[in-house]
Amino acid sequence: MGDTVRRLAVLGSTGSIGRQTLQVARSFPSRFRVAALTAGQNLELLEQQVQEFEPAFVYCQAERSVGGARYLFPEDIARHMDVDLVVVATSGRVGLPATLAAVEAGKDVALANKESLVMAGELITRQADASGARILPIDSEHSAIWQCLRGEEQPPTRIVLTASGGPFRSLSREEMARVTAEQALRHPSWRMGSKVTIDSATLMNKGLEVIEAHWLFRMPYEHIQVLIHPQSIIHSMVELADGSVKAQMGPPDMRLPIQHALTYPERLPNPQLPRLDWSVLRELTFEPPDTDLFPCLAMAVEAGKTGGTLPAVLCGADEVAVELFLSGKIAFTDIARLVKQVLAEHDTVTSPGLEDITAADDWARQRLRALAGEGHPC
Ligand code: MG
Repeated sequence: MGDTVRRLAVLGSTGSIGRQTLQVARSFPSRFRVAALTAGQNLELLEQQVQEFEPAFVYCQAERSVGGARYLFPEDIARHMDVDLVVVATSGRVGLPATLAAVEAGKDVALANKESLVMAGELITRQADASGARILPIDSEHSAIWQCLRGEEQPPTRIVLTASGGPFRSLSREEMARVTAEQALRHPSWRMGSKVTIDSATLMNKGLEVIEAHWLFRMPYEHIQVLIHPQSIIHSMVELADGSVKAQMGPPDMRLPIQHALTYPERLPNPQLPRLDWSVLRELTFEPPDTDLFPCLAMAVEAGKTGGTLPAVLCGADEVAVELFLSGKIAFTDIARLVKQVLAEHDTVTSPGLEDITAADDWARQRLRALAGEGHPC
C-alpha cells in the first residue's frame, strides 16, 4: 500500500459500522479518501458526512440530491474505477447487489454485511475466484480468524467462533417468551445496529456467522464450532494441524476489525482504539451454547448445510421476523418459531443464480408476514 491513498466507498455510511468506518478514515487522512457514501433514510447525517468528506459519489434512498456529489446507485459506485475499496456496511439484503458488483469488478471488499455471504456465498466466492477480488471480513469473529491465519501456510483443522451469548443466556423458556424489544436491544458487550443486536439475542447472528465462516475460509460445517464466551475478549480461535490453538483478543470495539480490513496488510497505531486493561480483566469463561433455548443457531447451521436457496430464505424470514418483533407485533420466541416454519415450507433450488436467491428471499418475507398474520397469504 505504501503512500498511496486508498479511495473508499462506504455503503451504509449512516449505520453503526458505517459511522465507525468514517471514524477510522478520519484517523488516517493521508491514507484514505472517502470517494463515495451511501445511506438509506438518514438524510440529515448523510448530508453532514458529505459536507465533511466531500465524496465524488453519493446515494440516498430517501433523496436524490445530496450536497454537490454525483448521484449513483450503490452497484455503480461499487464497480466504479475511481473506487479502490468497497466497505459494505449496510445491514440486510440491500448489501448483496453491491457486494456482487464489487466482486465482479475485481475490487477489494471490506465486508460487514454478513447477509451477502449467507445468501449468496457460492455465487460471491465463485466470482471472487474468477476476478481476483479479495473479501476482507469486518465481522469481528471472521476478522479474528483471518488475523489468526495470517502467516499460517496450512488451513486450520477447526474454527471456533465465540459468541457473547447475548443478554438472555440465563433465562428460562417462559421468561424468554416475555422479553421486550427494549431488553433485547441491550446487548451486554457490543454496541451495534438493531438488526444484529436482536440476532445476537436469538443466536441467529452466530448461525449466520457459521455460514459466513464456511464461505470465507472454505471450511466444512463439521469443523466449525460455536462457543459461548460472555466477556467478548476472545473474538474467535483457530485450531491448527498439530492441535495448537490461536486466539485473537482485544476489547469489544468494532473499529479494530474495521481498521484491520482497511489498512491490511499493515497494522497502524491508532490512539483512538482502546487497549485491554489486564488489571481489570479477571477471567475468560466458556460454555457450550444451549441449543434448546436458542433454536435459531442449529436452524441456521442446518440451512447452511443444505445450501442452495435455503440460506436466503433464512435471511429473508429472519429479517422480517426481527422487524415484527421490534415493532411489537410478535413475541421474541416467535422469531425462531416462524422462521423455522418458513424454512420447512421452502423447496430449495440448488446452485442458485441471483434471481433464484432474490425470489427465495422475497417468498420467505411474504410467507413469514402471512404466518404472523400480517399482509396477504401466498
Ligand atoms: Mg460478529
